[in-house]
Amino acid sequence: MDAAPPDKQDLLIDGKRASPSSGAYSQTTDPATGETLASVAVGDGADVDRAVDAARQAAPELRAIGPVDRGEILFDVADRIRDRLDELAELETRDQGKPLSQARSDLAGAAQYFEYYGGAADKLEGTTIPAGPDQLDYTVREPYGVSAQIIPWNFPANLFARGIAPALAAGNAVVAKPAPTTPLSAYRLAELCLDAGLPDGAVNVVSGGGETGAALTSHDGVDTITFTSSVPTGQKVMEAASRTITPVTLELGGKNPAIVYPDADVEEAVSWIDTGIFSNAGQICSAADRAIVHESVYEEFVERMVETAESYSLGPGIDDPDMGPVNSADHLEKIQEYIDVGQAEGARLATGGDTLARNGHYIEPTVFTDVDSGMRIAQEEIFGPVLAVIPYGDDQDPVEIGNDVEYGLVAGVFTNDVRRAHRAARRLDAGNVYVNTWFGDMNQTPFGGYKNSGIGREKGLEALDSYLQTKHIAVNLEGGDAGAPDT
Ligand code: NAD
Repeated sequence: MDAAPPDKQDLLIDGKRASPSSGAYSQTTDPATGETLASVAVGDGADVDRAVDAARQAAPELRAIGPVDRGEILFDVADRIRDRLDELAELETRDQGKPLSQARSDLAGAAQYFEYYGGAADKLEGTTIPAGPDQLDYTVREPYGVSAQIIPWNFPANLFARGIAPALAAGNAVVAKPAPTTPLSAYRLAELCLDAGLPDGAVNVVSGGGETGAALTSHDGVDTITFTSSVPTGQKVMEAASRTITPVTLELGGKNPAIVYPDADVEEAVSWIDTGIFSNAGQICSAADRAIVHESVYEEFVERMVETAESYSLGPGIDDPDMGPVNSADHLEKIQEYIDVGQAEGARLATGGDTLARNGHYIEPTVFTDVDSGMRIAQEEIFGPVLAVIPYGDDQDPVEIGNDVEYGLVAGVFTNDVRRAHRAARRLDAGNVYVNTWFGDMNQTPFGGYKNSGIGREKGLEALDSYLQTKHIAVNLEGGDAGAPDT
């Protein structure tokens, strides 16, 4: 097994490696040490043009592959990922920072996406519509053509698969732009897609930063856009897409509430919520950011949560600790700023908040208690291992507190009262609600946000709606001409 990343990573366009037109390269570094891993090509507008052209040429070829065969190719991609799981997981850990076992699980999930959508490729059925006796009405579902995908840095390999597998299953060619700090797995996975028998140009990768992303999402050769990251950049993507009337699927993060009712099993709730906030060092859009806890169990909850947070081992992902470093120095700085903000706002720093005195971007699992819902640490996405615990009393509605943010991605309720659980689930403004669990979504279940958390759904069969457009066909069964126009 050789998991060492290549020293230099060129663009992948039309099945071939290509130097960037500008000759520019940036560095991707190991978050565990700060050391350079590889020089990575920075694509510009000319490179994006070449990649989109290649995808446009590949799109009809891809469409001409029968659905069963297209599915088989995706199954083959899944096998290729599984065959190289150790190598890919190590590459992901080095580039992203996460513990090795979490990277392995991400890669296993990536293989499952290719398998799941491979299985869907020959089931993309239309409908017949009983509109009248003289006409046959039916629909077919057709690929858009070229799908542009901006892949985030928190789950680079897994979310590459989450977007690219359904796009390909539906018959679209893809141009993907990975995040500048985690580009390596996207290149490797794209190569595996091509090795499995997709046409050259069916999957292209153009790495780079915001300018590269903007060149791609504003390109008039792109037919549909999938973007995952922050609200402000999502707004820019939507604005650019409005100029070319291109549909967008946006997944823009969350500030997710976990409500702990007085009748909850507190020990169980703590175990789900700590996994929910500290996995992947909190860099998860569906993290359990806010624990909204009834005052009768508040003290017990805080005590257990602090004890759990303090039991976490923190170190290089490659050693498979409980928590690895965060992805970049810039991101660490952002998290530290929020820890200062929380203290300045008057929340109590119950544990954590410190960095480690070593190279790399490490921050301790952090718990703020006595948080008020109006505080910035309770309103803004920190995207780090920072839990805000908000107490509530009998005169307050925890669902109202839960809904009191701009986001609406996921929410959780912890209770042993089945009616209370379902009533809360109905009232929570969130695309996914977990009852007595966290991260309850699977590859097969639709995932996406209410409110500013986004547009459209990833995962499950619903994700295919982002990659297929419906065509209605009307056939005159009676013959004859149209007759005189109505006057
Ligand atoms: P960002 O929003 O600056 O960039 C995200 C991606 O979009 C990058 O690949 C970037 O190159 C690209 N981009 C930037 N400007 C663009 C434009 N105008 N058009 C098209 N693409 C453009 O994000 P960031 O600095 O990496 O992270 C900021 C915050 O986003 C994080 O702190 C976190 O809160 C959130 N985030 C959320 C998720 C998620 O899963 N929802 C994932 C990663 C980050």
